[in-house]
Amino acid sequence: MISKAIEKPKGGWAVAPNLIDYEKVCAGYSWDAAQRELDGLPGGRGLNIAHEAIDRHAAGALRNHLALRWIAKSGEIRDFSYADLRLLTNRFANLLRRLGLSKAERVFALAGRIPELYISALGTLKNGNVFCPLFSAFGPEPIRQRIGIGDGRVLLTTVALYKRKIAGIRASLPGLRHVLLVGSPEEIRAIPNTEDFGQLMNEASDDFEIPQTDPEDLALLHFTSGTTGKPKGAMHVHQAVVAHHVTGRLALDFHPGDIFWCTADPGWITGTSYGIIAPLTNGITSIIDEAEFDAERWYALLQKQKVTVWYTAPTAVRMMMKIGTEVIRKYDLRHLRFIASVGEPLNPEAVVWGQEAFGLPIHDNWWQTETGGIMISNFAAMDIRPGSMGRPLPGIEAGIVRRREDGTIEEIREAGVEGELALRPGWPSMFRGYLNEEERYRKCFAGGWYLTGDLARRDGDGYFWFVGRADDVIKSSGHLIGPFEVESTLLEHPAVAEAGVIGKPDPMAGEIVKAFVSLKPAFVASDELRSELLGFARKRLGAVVAPKEIDFIANVPKTRSGKIMRRLLKARELGLPEGDTSTLESQ
Ligand code: AMP
Repeated sequence: MISKAIEKPKGGWAVAPNLIDYEKVCAGYSWDAAQRELDGLPGGRGLNIAHEAIDRHAAGALRNHLALRWIAKSGEIRDFSYADLRLLTNRFANLLRRLGLSKAERVFALAGRIPELYISALGTLKNGNVFCPLFSAFGPEPIRQRIGIGDGRVLLTTVALYKRKIAGIRASLPGLRHVLLVGSPEEIRAIPNTEDFGQLMNEASDDFEIPQTDPEDLALLHFTSGTTGKPKGAMHVHQAVVAHHVTGRLALDFHPGDIFWCTADPGWITGTSYGIIAPLTNGITSIIDEAEFDAERWYALLQKQKVTVWYTAPTAVRMMMKIGTEVIRKYDLRHLRFIASVGEPLNPEAVVWGQEAFGLPIHDNWWQTETGGIMISNFAAMDIRPGSMGRPLPGIEAGIVRRREDGTIEEIREAGVEGELALRPGWPSMFRGYLNEEERYRKCFAGGWYLTGDLARRDGDGYFWFVGRADDVIKSSGHLIGPFEVESTLLEHPAVAEAGVIGKPDPMAGEIVKAFVSLKPAFVASDELRSELLGFARKRLGAVVAPKEIDFIANVPKTRSGKIMRRLLKARELGLPEGDTSTLESQ
């Protein structure tokens, strides 16, 4: 256990955490009261995320405060005050209006961490449209699927990404009416059927009044993966901003004047809820680094930007651990006050390492695309049990449940017993559905609980401990990957008869994607064919989703009803007992 008494100086906290008396705050917690921390649209016209994030600050004392500092790969810096952001997002909202977008139509973004992405996200919300970020490392196939399912009307992307990933699939996306490109005007002019983001922004007016927004109006669409079927579009509404705001304050301990750096990419929900919304609603400064992980660049950034609160991920922490603490001593990180991590299990050693390396423990927290915001957390003022995800946020009731034989749900109250992690529905950032998939959504709820798909246990003091996924979904470097999506792509190769995909444990990435493939009779397994399949999948799926390893096997094990037995593949891969194979199809 890491006792906060170590950190707490005798004279008290240097900066007192926002949440000190956990039990007391939980006992008196009300989401209605939390909502009153926000302003709502002027004239009682509802609740809009972009108003809470930008306009209310731009109209007040924070108007010239630094809202976003963007650091390009080259090191170039661009600063945006709250007033700047108001103007730019007004322009983007006007641009969408001019394109004739109706309420709730979807605006997709496929871009790295560039300012245009942040501006378009918030401008989209202003105009009552729905923002859907795509991870820029996706290959054309995951992009095509998601824009198709989400019925994207507008896509914001760059010239380079368009050429590599969109040009080839554009014809299969007839509903995509406008593609806005970031890049040089000459290059854009040469690409048919696209529009110049910069030019349209220059032409757009600076004034925009956010229209009436019902808190239940759709705001964000985030794709996530299940074990079977297509990717699921989790729908979030403007009301979610209440949870973004208060979790920023309670779980990430935002204080006025903080300089916050969330290393997540907005292609995944952490990069939106906490890389865009929460720091802005709290009126603090958010740092965006365009570049990918590089330990020394990161330490230099923490020092130079005087980052006070840092939200990162276990894979990054493990990579830093590998490099060691010596290099950290070269940097002055005295401004750093709070470090948090999310997305995958954070090894207990990593928590302790943080204490040694930064003089601060790393605070793990847990949530998922469907929950929209942090649900379980190690708080700044609370003792940390390394390896535990922490305790539920005020306003959140979490439990461990098991399914009885008759399908009903029973809560497990005894400490230390493993079961499925469940949450009582009703918090503001809870997803309101999977787009066009009512049945899949309904299946997430039973016995008055939202079932998270994670296995966990709770100890006697109410700390939750992650055990694993209840399904076959893979977590690789914090990215959730559906095995079905990978299997389907492999099956498109003429040599492949069957494919089964698992997450293989990996010391750095948590898991890597591994595929088992059986070949059609005319094909013979060889190293060349393996390389070809790896390349084939990588080209279609992108580096994050494609398998890193492929093994050839005679038959992919299936149940008699034809379901791939991924658990069996995994057990065989890891040399573990095969468990119950009574449903295995005879081979
Ligand atoms: P996503 O929806 O992509 O954000 O992925 C959510 C999933 O990531 C959760 O259901 C967990 O399986 C995993 N996850 C998130 N945070 C943690 C954590 N702190 N510890 C362990 N697993 C986590």
